[in-house]
Amino acid sequence: MAFVVAYLLGAASALLALLAARAVRRRRPGPPALAGRASRLAELDGFTTELGEELAALAFDPSAPGVPAESVADYRRALDAYGEATEALTAQDTERANLALATARNALTRLDARTHGLPVPIDVSRAARSRGEPAPDPRLDGRFSYSGALTRSYLFPIDWPRPGGPAILEMTRNGSGSTEFKAVSITSTETPDDPLYTFVLHDTSRKRSYLPAPSETGRRPTHFKVGPWSLQSGKGSWSLRIRPIDDTIELFREYPGTGSEVLVHHADSPATLGIHIDTERTWTVQYRCLKKHRRREYCPYKTMSQIMWGTSDALKSAPICGPGYIVVDAHGHAKWSLSVSAKPTPPNPLAGLLKRLGL
Ligand SMILES: [Zn+2]
Repeated sequence: MAFVVAYLLGAASALLALLAARAVRRRRPGPPALAGRASRLAELDGFTTELGEELAALAFDPSAPGVPAESVADYRRALDAYGEATEALTAQDTERANLALATARNALTRLDARTHGLPVPIDVSRAARSRGEPAPDPRLDGRFSYSGALTRSYLFPIDWPRPGGPAILEMTRNGSGSTEFKAVSITSTETPDDPLYTFVLHDTSRKRSYLPAPSETGRRPTHFKVGPWSLQSGKGSWSLRIRPIDDTIELFREYPGTGSEVLVHHADSPATLGIHIDTERTWTVQYRCLKKHRRREYCPYKTMSQIMWGTSDALKSAPICGPGYIVVDAHGHAKWSLSVSAKPTPPNPLAGLLKRLGL
């Protein structure tokens, strides 16, 4: 153990030296290069700086009592990968830098999951590389942002913006065919990667959807598997961004939107949710209650539940408890308008009697 700690302390001071060296290097203008590669290098440089800052600010003490050996190993892996990324950048090797950043992210995601008592995603990329297979890593577009080609399949751990809480998925697709974004659970080499949630995008489209918290449904996804759904997937790209649930659009009274969207309503009183939708395809509206119900009060919306649906143009409404998340799932071109109105309170017979009596 003493050796491990000494190694880590060495690694931590090496990290500080690297951060200082990078600060100096970043002030020097780089040599002129190909525009595309130069801008990718600049992007990766920014991500590496962010990673270095994140590592420096990490509240993880490898020498603390009771720290699992796996966490110490992941911490070491993240530091080593950071060093590898800086070296790759100096050598202007974008692919190697992306791979090193993916390795660091993988290790930090596992560390984070263990810290928060969440299921720990296995490092599929490391396992693939040790078998001599290509790693199924996507291109990193910053933390929580990934992209890739339509013709390949990717598998990478879910980096939760708020560990233990739900998240918003922002998915895009450019090109012909269809792509599946599947949230799967892989915590050991033996677990089958049954999809827990599947989102499909067709042609050129965009979708915002809701990824429930592991505690909400008992389903505990650890990875995203993104790949072609139809065999004729052509040239093009996909992107996925995992956003914190606070980035939801707020629905006050009315909100006009298109396609699939996640909204939040905050007012505490029971209300009627209405939708006016213009589409030729199937659509659904789901609701998840956020009201603090009294102990014996029954709520059918404790998890995300379908409350309205249809197959074409419609004007519909449904009762909701009040506060909660609302998910509209519709075709990319579907135009809709959501509205929320407080339910009229039923007349109180006693109030009428008191009025008549002049009290
Ligand atoms: Zn409720």
